[in-house]
Amino acid sequence: MEEPKKNRIAKIIVDREGCIGAASCVAVAGRTYYMDDENKAVVIEPWGDDDEMVLLSAQACPTLAIRLIDVDGNQIYP
Ligand code: SF4
Repeated sequence: MEEPKKNRIAKIIVDREGCIGAASCVAVAGRTYYMDDENKAVVIEPWGDDDEMVLLSAQACPTLAIRLIDVDGNQIYP
């Protein structure tokens, strides 16, 4: 049976060095990230958005600061 596409993303990593505080990720997936007091995105765990929105949020990051790891441990983005 084919594996469901939902919840394949197991880990979301924000590179604090790369984050420039553009907040695009929060705009796309507001239940997954918040901006901390240094204006860096922080992942809320467990995140509240589905995989599609999480992927879109990572793609929205202008500096590719968001890495996504799937349940098999493979980096799926970027
Ligand atoms: S979109 Fe990227 S640069 Fe902008 S706040 Fe999120 S992680 Fe940081």
